[in-house]
Amino acid sequence: MKVLVLNCGSSSLKYQLFDMTSEEVLAKGLVDRIGIEGSTIKHTKTGQASVSSTTDIPNHKVAIRLVTEHLLDANHGALSSLNELSAVGHRVVHGGEKFAKSVVIDQEVLDVIEDCVPLAPLHNPANLMGIRAVLDVLPDVPQVAVFDTAFHQSMPPKAFTYGLPYHYYEESRLRRYGFHGTSHFYVANRTAEILGRPIDELKIVTCHMGNGSSIAAVDGGKSVDTSLGFSTVPGILMGTRAGDLDPVMVLHLMEQEGISPKAMSHILHKESGVLGISGISSDLRDIEEAASTGNERATLALEMLCYGVRKYIGAYAAAMGGIDAIVFTAGIGENSILVRQMVGEGLDFLGASLDISRNNIRGKEAIISTDNSRVKILVVPTNEELVIARDTRTLVNG
Ligand code: AMP
Repeated sequence: MKVLVLNCGSSSLKYQLFDMTSEEVLAKGLVDRIGIEGSTIKHTKTGQASVSSTTDIPNHKVAIRLVTEHLLDANHGALSSLNELSAVGHRVVHGGEKFAKSVVIDQEVLDVIEDCVPLAPLHNPANLMGIRAVLDVLPDVPQVAVFDTAFHQSMPPKAFTYGLPYHYYEESRLRRYGFHGTSHFYVANRTAEILGRPIDELKIVTCHMGNGSSIAAVDGGKSVDTSLGFSTVPGILMGTRAGDLDPVMVLHLMEQEGISPKAMSHILHKESGVLGISGISSDLRDIEEAASTGNERATLALEMLCYGVRKYIGAYAAAMGGIDAIVFTAGIGENSILVRQMVGEGLDFLGASLDISRNNIRGKEAIISTDNSRVKILVVPTNEELVIARDTRTLVNG
């Protein structure tokens, strides 16, 4: 069974073709600058060199058509006919309160994704464009939506409700939703496999740290709290997003400086976080380098990031009434030896002891706590595409 996994942005489309018998990736690629001058496609058949080309790609429909042409290509393709394609799985950012699980896409599902556009105005419209493009180009292929928010739908009301007048929740659905759910789900389950213990016995804090970051408390395989909220701004410091703030300070700033809601949103999403504090870059590699040469604001950004993660680990251990494992994933979590060390050191009071030499790895699965650490600390590279492909296989096979 072959499944195509798509992650559609407003001007980009990432894809991976899976053979779901072996769960191997047969080919993958990126279509970039859709609808913008100089559109490109980069396609890689597993085991071969990548092929790239620049061509006119005015919309997602043309992008999907181009992807199918590459997948059928005699030299670098991975399908002999489109009939081999059993299903398409989409990453969809927001499923609101309707979807606690992945679903086969029909008109009703499309309507709900559309209803959730106000909750994810940048992402859901792009996801919808991708789904509709596949409907046009591959009308007979079933499609599945896998939501970033779904895994966190198990949070109890005490964790997802904000302290605003309750009617704002009832009428406007203002609540914590959380994101990166597919990643938290994958690394929590993989952790249980690595530790050889049933997930329903484990209390895990999963730290997804990339350009966007979130921490989740996963108790018995269910998300019970997470650091992102209604939006993708709160929680720990991110590349360009602010993390936790006092909302009154934002109102104060807007009033004092005459900043419009749109401009404020830009500040919170694009000018804050590691970039805003350091004034150097949103990329943690640049920050680590600057900090190593004594740059004070780079050092502050690094310290704020790691301090924030430590606070969430402590809070979530208390929230769950215990902790068995701490897991690092995504670009920073998988690769930054320094960040893992700064977060992990001095957590012995929780029963978590980092092994400095085991921590000296990048981008691969490892247990990085000492042998006698009661709480295991792990690095688990995330694999959201595999979760999407698996859910798609399960749903399409009925
Ligand atoms: P992601 O959004 O998951 O792709 O993660 C992107 C983040 O990972 C960026 O801030 C990168 O600087 C960071 N990152 C990637 N590789 C490294 C590395 N070797 N050391 C530190 N940070 C890294």
